[in-house]
Amino acid sequence: MKQIPYDPMVYQPGMEALASDVMAQVLAGAKAFRPESNTDGDVSRALAAERRTAADFSALLSPAAEARLEELARAARTETRRWFGNAISLFTPLYIANYCENHCTYCGFGSQHKIRRGKLTLDEIRREAETIASTGLQEILVLTGECRGASGVEYIGEALRVLGAYFSVIGMEIYPLNTDEYAFLRGCGADYVSVYQETYDPALYEKVHPLGAKRCYPYRFAAQERALRGGMRGVAFGSLLGLGDFRRDAFAAGLHADFLQKKYPYAEISFSFPRLRPFQEIGGQPQKAGNGDVSERRLLQVMLAYRLFLPFAGITISTRERAAFRDSVAGLAATKMSAGVSVGVGGHSEEQKGDPQFLIADGRDVAEVRAMLTARGLQPVLRDYVRV
Ligand code: SF4
Repeated sequence: MKQIPYDPMVYQPGMEALASDVMAQVLAGAKAFRPESNTDGDVSRALAAERRTAADFSALLSPAAEARLEELARAARTETRRWFGNAISLFTPLYIANYCENHCTYCGFGSQHKIRRGKLTLDEIRREAETIASTGLQEILVLTGECRGASGVEYIGEALRVLGAYFSVIGMEIYPLNTDEYAFLRGCGADYVSVYQETYDPALYEKVHPLGAKRCYPYRFAAQERALRGGMRGVAFGSLLGLGDFRRDAFAAGLHADFLQKKYPYAEISFSFPRLRPFQEIGGQPQKAGNGDVSERRLLQVMLAYRLFLPFAGITISTRERAAFRDSVAGLAATKMSAGVSVGVGGHSEEQKGDPQFLIADGRDVAEVRAMLTARGLQPVLRDYVRV
């Protein structure tokens, strides 16, 4: 990928352009989003609705609903119980590489930063897998950073084959691929794909992605659809809350998932809600970008609104958030939690080969998270899928 600031709406050579109207629909919906115009009555109607529309979703994300979080929480808990019972799935991320060709202005992994880069060998991946599996975990999320040159599709496929011997569910958070590449990695053992659009605002997207493949907005946007066409069981969505207008970005990500769920009814849809956080200190200074106005209370509102709009969707809460907050949203809206997390390259069985991407706020191991869930009357689930 040339390191020049190309038009972000134009597909670059090698990028598959999908014929799909989903992006146009989401952008139109996000443009029309007016949460400040939602009234208390709109919130009441949304709470009372049996099946909630995009207009209800808007009301639930609005400032008017922020004052009624307890009501949202009660309704969300009911929906979570109805669709998921008291089950909370557990997983851990495994960074197998941290090379990145992009220059995202809000991230410490960007190629403009002089951090320690690394990539695990297959033997190292096997040792990491053995250590993680010994904690009882059966689900893993593989992360690579976003660099085709350093962490090619073949390498990721080999890593998946190694991990398949230890885990029954494997997710991937890697750079966006073409449909045939997703199909290849599905054949190597991947089950689901997470891609975050970061912000759905095209103008801001262009500003914070000055260079690299990630600068291409439509290619990233259509990644989940290509993944589903490539045979993936599930796809995860999210925006980096606080980078832009968090309500509008949350609304757009919800619409994006809703349109794809309707188009691909078999797809297992899920969400994560990263908030803009200071990234790893460089030269002693915490690095920060964006407006950072997403308090825990607002994050909770977003999670509850998603549960009410798409009640069957998985919601993941990461260790970027405080333990007390994670504990309180488990079973309320969240249905999946990470535990025993290392955000450096490797680090479970041996020393990390690369610097961590961000600071974690909840360092509890798997046993501690399981004990917490059990004490709260929830059921920690290690395996909800069996390969045959
Ligand atoms: S957000 Fe992702 S793509 Fe952007 S610099 Fe960080 S690791 Fe690379």
